[in-house]
Amino acid sequence: MGECIFCKIANKEILSKPVYEDERCYAFYDLDPQAPTHFLVIPKRHIASALDLGEDDAALVGHCYAVIAKVARELGLDSYRVVTNCGEQAGQTVFHLHFHVLAGRDMTWPPG
Ligand code: 5GP
Ligand code: ZN
Repeated sequence: MGECIFCKIANKEILSKPVYEDERCYAFYDLDPQAPTHFLVIPKRHIASALDLGEDDAALVGHCYAVIAKVARELGLDSYRVVTNCGEQAGQTVFHLHFHVLAGRDMTWPPG
C-alpha cells in the first residue's frame, strides 16, 4: 500500500530498529515506547486493522503470536502485554495491523 508507513517500514523504505523478521512478519521497536520494552509485530502483508481479519488470516495471526512468544523468550521477558488497537476510538493511529508488546513495568487494568 503506497502511503502506509508500516508497509514502508516492512520494506525498509523507512528505517526502524529490528527485533525479528521472517517472510511473513516483521518486529521492530516502537518510536515512542510506553514501557521499558515496547516493540511492534506486523504482518508484512497490508491489513488495515483487526476488523479486516477473516478465517483465512488465522494462521498469520497465530504466527504473529508465536513470534511474540519467541522474541519474549529471547529477551528474557516472563510477563508482557499484547495490545491491538482497532479503530480510532480505541486509539489506532497507524492503519496497518500491529501487535504492541509491552513489558518491564507494572500494568494497570482496565487499560485506559
Ligand atoms: P497505534 O496508535 O496505531 O495503536 O500504534 C501505532 C504505534 O506506532 C505507536 O505506538 C507509534 O509510536 C508507533 N509508530 C508510529 N510511527 C512510527 C515509526 O515511524 N517508527 C516506529 N518505530 N514506530 C512508529
Ligand atoms: Zn501497510
